[in-house]
Amino acid sequence: MQTVDLAQIPVVDNHCHGVSRDQTFEDLTIWRRAFTESTDPGMPRDHIASTAFYRRIVRALADFIGCEPEEEAVFAARTGRDGWELAGALLRAANVDTLLLDTGFPPPEEVLPVPELGRLGGCRAEPMLRLEILMENLLAKHGSLADVEAALASALDDVRGQGYVALKSIAAYRTGLDIREWPQEEAEESFREYRRATEIGSTRLVHKPLLDTLLHVAFAEAARQEVPVQFHVGYGDADTDLLLGNPLYLRPALQRSDYLGMPFVLLHECYPYTRQGGYLAAVYENAYLDLSYGIPLLGYNEMLSFTRAALGVAPSSKLMYSSDGIGVPELHWISALDGRQVMGQVLGEMVSHGELTLPEAEATGEAMLRGNATRLYGL
Ligand SMILES: [Zn+2]
Repeated sequence: MQTVDLAQIPVVDNHCHGVSRDQTFEDLTIWRRAFTESTDPGMPRDHIASTAFYRRIVRALADFIGCEPEEEAVFAARTGRDGWELAGALLRAANVDTLLLDTGFPPPEEVLPVPELGRLGGCRAEPMLRLEILMENLLAKHGSLADVEAALASALDDVRGQGYVALKSIAAYRTGLDIREWPQEEAEESFREYRRATEIGSTRLVHKPLLDTLLHVAFAEAARQEVPVQFHVGYGDADTDLLLGNPLYLRPALQRSDYLGMPFVLLHECYPYTRQGGYLAAVYENAYLDLSYGIPLLGYNEMLSFTRAALGVAPSSKLMYSSDGIGVPELHWISALDGRQVMGQVLGEMVSHGELTLPEAEATGEAMLRGNATRLYGL
């Protein structure tokens, strides 16, 4: 089977997170934590080293650094280098055109500043605004729901003018993707419950009628300005209720004609709901499917599988590459290598099945790795 060579195409990483300023790790177990979404202490200690993803990244890093393909050797070689220098070297080796960074997590004080990361990686770096954090900030400042709604609309009045290329929502982590329209009195009651929770020290917005109501304010602004909104969908840490992370819950919002101007970017190939996400991208003109190859932390066969599923149902013009890399630069790096390789293999299969010519397959690969995101985010 022929593989389409995408090795030279720079990527627009349409969803990733910052790289930690501090790249020192006390021991191997702490470094392993970068390669799991689990917070259970026994996972990095006893199990992470046996995942397909970890075994692949250890071998790939050994190749890159030039050491024995054993985790102790890779860890020693990696921690022996200056962390910022290593981040720059990995990002440049990944051949990144642009990083679109979710600045909502980790907190800005823990990660390299957006322009610094771009400078190290020899690439462009652009921030995205996480909606739930903005909402929590505004809830702390205003005394009524109406005031918070007005302040939110005003804060989002000119998203691009404030330097953001997109908005991001983690509703899937907080209250689920079944974002509803609530009667006024239920939203008001939810607002009062939130206020009571803040009085005992919790500012975390997990109050569904309130969060849903504020999301609709944000969606109206996004639609008016035609700014993409990224949604965390599917696979995440144990904080997410994966049942409520099914992208099919977004149907009522996708059905709204007044939101047609707002591109919905369904992140992380909606794993394991890739077919559902691909279906939505096939049916709704403003639904797009992100294909991230860093996180979820998957084996090669599973990456092939979700890429086949996505390309098998969604128009390729709706698919965009990302890493979802976070914390350590290894994730941003290996994702770009894997993304090109896996897409190239699946596009090669499509050529042999007569679905694409070779030049079409090359152009499709370029579009998924860079062109579609450049166009959608107006880069
Ligand atoms: Zn993310």
